Formats: sequence, C-alpha cells, structure tokens
Amino acid sequence: MEAEASDTMKLAVVDIDDTLLMGGRLSRLFWHFSLTFQRMGRRLQKVNGRLLDQLPEYDTVVILSGRDKHEIQFTQSQLRKAGIRFDKLICCPRKDLINKWKMSVVDSLDKENRIVWIDDIFEENLLKGALLQLHPNVTTIPPTRTALVKNGRSSELEWL
Ligand SMILES: [Mg+2]
Repeated sequence: MEAEASDTMKLAVVDIDDTLLMGGRLSRLFWHFSLTFQRMGRRLQKVNGRLLDQLPEYDTVVILSGRDKHEIQFTQSQLRKAGIRFDKLICCPRKDLINKWKMSVVDSLDKENRIVWIDDIFEENLLKGALLQLHPNVTTIPPTRTALVKNGRSSELEWL
C-alpha cells in the first residue's frame, strides 16, 4: 500500500514571478521606475581617475560587470561619456544564470517521486535544448493563467 501511495506522489516545484504572482500594467510601471531610478543613480557615479590613468598601460581592456546584459547599451554610453577606453564590455546574463541555477536545484532533488516543475521559463523555446538533460521523472510545464494577465513578455522582475 505504501509503495503504491508513493508511486502516485508528486512534488511540485513552482516559480513565483509570472507564474504564481502575475505582474499587471501597474507592476510594470514600478519596474520601469526602478530601472529609471537605478540609471539615475548610475549617472551620479564619478570616474575613478587614478584607475583611468593606469588603463593605457594595457593593450586590451575588457570590462566585466555584474550589471545585467540588458543594460549593456546604457553602460556602454555611460563608460564612453566618462572617457573610458575599452575593447570589450561583458555584462551578466542573469536570467540565463538563474535558469541554470534552478535546473541544478531541481536536478539535485530526490527523484524517486515524480516532480512537476511549473515555471514561465518553459514558455520560452530557448530552454528546450538544455532541458533534455533533466531526469525523466521531471515534467516541466508553463503556468496556466487567465487571459486577463497574459502578456507577451516577461515582467523581468525576478532577475534584477
Ligand atoms: Mg518567472
């Protein structure tokens, strides 16, 4: 009997943003404000003159930042305005990193029981290749949602 019960046991792994909690127009407005405020803060930053003077000693300057890769254009222009010469700017693919981290967490779970992983990331085709490596007991599904809150793109709230 016990074995039978455990055969039917399922574990749900559920995402929050755009899955359990949906962002409406107002939430995106606040998201927009937070990005605007972040940029306003960054515009107040001052260049480190001593480091700037040292950079010409190097043949190649690669700037590696934890800023999100969606901020690359803003960052490029901020650096150029500050007179910083660089060869390459690399920002952080945060969303990819978070998705990979989620996969490693699900991968580390005990898979004797079936796992259903519900996340809006499964609405994106990009992940399909990577997901083939998941355990056969792991089923991935996008959230079901009401038509009212369905919007074409991610609120992006969770990864900044
Ligand atoms: Mg999400």
